[in-house]
Amino acid sequence: MSRHDQLAAGLATVRERIAGACADAGRDPDEVRLVVVTKFFPESDVRLLADLGVTDVGENRHQEAEAKAAACADLALTWHFIGGLQSNKAAAVASYSHVVESVDRAKLVGPLAKGAGAREQPLDVLLQVSLDPPGAEGRAGADAADLPALAGRVAEAEHLVLRGLMAVAPLGGDPVAAFARLAELHRSFVSAHPAATWLSAGMSGDLEHAVRAGATHVRVGSAILGSRPRVK
Ligand SMILES: *Cc1c(COP(=O)(O)O)cnc(C)c1O
Repeated sequence: MSRHDQLAAGLATVRERIAGACADAGRDPDEVRLVVVTKFFPESDVRLLADLGVTDVGENRHQEAEAKAAACADLALTWHFIGGLQSNKAAAVASYSHVVESVDRAKLVGPLAKGAGAREQPLDVLLQVSLDPPGAEGRAGADAADLPALAGRVAEAEHLVLRGLMAVAPLGGDPVAAFARLAELHRSFVSAHPAATWLSAGMSGDLEHAVRAGATHVRVGSAILGSRPRVK
């Protein structure tokens, strides 16, 4: 099978899974945007995906993302940054990303706003909230209790647009419970920030649970592109 046909098959399967979960939940599949996570995969795959109708791609490492976004600058893609952010790289990340989904501390707000301002384009921001128990190994994301203050900082920053929340289900935990908690957090978040309606949740292994819990964005890599090398 050609790479094109592999990716087409993976995409068709994932789109069916999203449609099935939407049918279960009585949701319109157009409410769920598929972000294809292309980390570790080459520019050539991004081009094939764009040909296959993919509009949104996600990357989690700055150097790789920067190079791929530059190489694919001729494609009308929306680039999502979904990885851990260092504050000294945040302005650079804002210079090629359209959405930064992994904002988890106030220290990132200034550099992101600066990068977006230099590019003269507003940057969509999601706050990443941790669904892990406190002290869990490799925990990423802000504590739920810190979201209001962080949201306030983003909302008042120039060039940044507060769009909603992002989360990853805890490794080895129950995604149904985790996403139910996330949906609850998002409900109270939207009551304070009515325009922040985006909820990015769900990956290859758990996207149905996320869609049933109200995700507006799913981030899917391996179910479309195949398995990645096991390095982080
Ligand atoms: C890698 C990654 C994904 C995609 O994971 P798959 O299991 O390959 O679908 C989604 N979200 C984040 C934050 C990631 O780092």
